Amino acid sequence: MREAKVLQRHTGRALCERCFKEDIVNRFKEEVSRYKMFSPGDRILLALSGGKDSFVLLDVVKEVHDVSKIGIVTIIEGIRGYNRVEDISWIVSTAKEYKIDLHVTSFKEYTGYDLDDLVRLGKLRNFEVSPCTYCGILRRRIINYYARSQGYDKVLTAHNLDDEVQTYVMNILRGDRGRLIQNHPLSKTLSRYFIKRVKPLRKIYEWETSVYAYMAGFRFQELECPYIRHQPTLRAEIRDYLYEIEQERPGSLLRVLETIDNYVERELLSRPLGFEELPTCTLCGAPTAQGRKTCVLCELLDKLGISNRIPF
Ligand code: SF4
Ligand code: ZN
Repeated sequence: MREAKVLQRHTGRALCERCFKEDIVNRFKEEVSRYKMFSPGDRILLALSGGKDSFVLLDVVKEVHDVSKIGIVTIIEGIRGYNRVEDISWIVSTAKEYKIDLHVTSFKEYTGYDLDDLVRLGKLRNFEVSPCTYCGILRRRIINYYARSQGYDKVLTAHNLDDEVQTYVMNILRGDRGRLIQNHPLSKTLSRYFIKRVKPLRKIYEWETSVYAYMAGFRFQELECPYIRHQPTLRAEIRDYLYEIEQERPGSLLRVLETIDNYVERELLSRPLGFEELPTCTLCGAPTAQGRKTCVLCELLDKLGISNRIPF
């Protein structure tokens, strides 16, 4: 009989370290197989930021997938005091130990500017956009370009259950049916130039990734990004609200996710979206939303007086 270390409130079980880790790995595998997120022959690219969720994703994937078919991309945003090269040293050493291809790059390498520089430039030009907007758009473009240019079949991100439910609820509150569907694991990519992104940790609670990483000896500095307070207030409010509900009624987040998943699945199956290739940006050639002439990245950088040099 091993000593119970973790009380999993959403199942009411007290688990020892080994059973807790096995449970995480099994739930990861179930989600991958339920939505056919990737197959054994797929070349998969892990987009890792360096935090605890990244640690769990890499730790599990290297055990369940052929390491010669795994790659990692890590992007240094260029935020003073946060996500520096030294914070990802564990990714570098793990990649080396398991002979996994690793590409460490930065916003600066692709645009000539750190995220801090872009934020400063925006302020100088009275163009007030949340740093998270630059960050998200640049990260998506760079990851997709790298995955496509290197012939990867899928991109895996380390989003957890908490992230996923927040995103679903945000889309419901905004009445954004398109994004609600796009967030579902069975959604199709909107362009042949987009590599499908999947989130195998989407049923793992954030507290579980912290405990898993801690048990595995991962000593992370949980520094918060200094721009976190610029995240959309709606997301922060939803996060706090969901946290309270989960505390009072353990398992709520999982039930919300499953209910929305099922609803979207029925919607997707009964009314499949017609696939129409997206138009291309007249400046950089990347796919852009229907009805737009240029992509959001070109538009954003143009407002800062920077021409977009990032290939797609
Ligand atoms: Fe980027 Fe915003 Fe996250 Fe900071 S909080 S890493 S700026 S998305
Ligand atoms: Zn463009």
